[in-house]
Amino acid sequence: MPALRIGVLAIQGDFAAHQTMLAGLGAEAVAVRSPAELLELDGLVIPGGESTTISKGMARDGLDEAVRALSEAGTPVMGSCAGMIVCDREHLGLADYRCRRNAFGRQLQSFERDLLVEGLGDEPIRAVFIRAPWVEQHGPSVEVLAEVDGHPVAVRDANVLSVAFHAELTDDSRLHAYFMALCTTGMSSASRPGMPGASRGMPWAGA
Ligand code: GLN
Repeated sequence: MPALRIGVLAIQGDFAAHQTMLAGLGAEAVAVRSPAELLELDGLVIPGGESTTISKGMARDGLDEAVRALSEAGTPVMGSCAGMIVCDREHLGLADYRCRRNAFGRQLQSFERDLLVEGLGDEPIRAVFIRAPWVEQHGPSVEVLAEVDGHPVAVRDANVLSVAFHAELTDDSRLHAYFMALCTTGMSSASRPGMPGASRGMPWAGA
């Protein structure tokens, strides 16, 4: 089977750390700076950094519309920290939730937590939070995978997986492996006619 081709949006932020982690798991991890570079991707990661800078850069380069189209076609997208914000209703609108920025407060600029995340098994993941958001409101299609103090910090809405923390800064690659499994399913499962995204065989399309 050919390697998965996963794009990492490389406008600003810690995209290189995601590329290293994805490459370590056997993916072809390509930096994305233009709409043309979204072609032929099996998945896209929107990294942490500064959400206003990333959003402005995407709009400037036509990547906002192009990434919306990619996601609407059913291609898996993973947003981390600022990337979680960029995917929300107030920004690209890829998933039906709204973030609260810098939600954990000034005194908690950064912290680490052992976090149980649904889908990643019984071992907690070491989650690094850096001026992190949380999900303050979401619609019924959003599945909450992990919470901190009752606030969702890992969610999935169909093909969009969003986490408030940085998993790419640890040596635990299970979150990226989970995302790559979504990308693989998207590639290999049979298409279901009549459903959005069916042409690419997205098992969750229309769910
Ligand atoms: N607080 C930042 C923002 O709003 C996100 C921080 C991060 O990605 N580590 O963009």
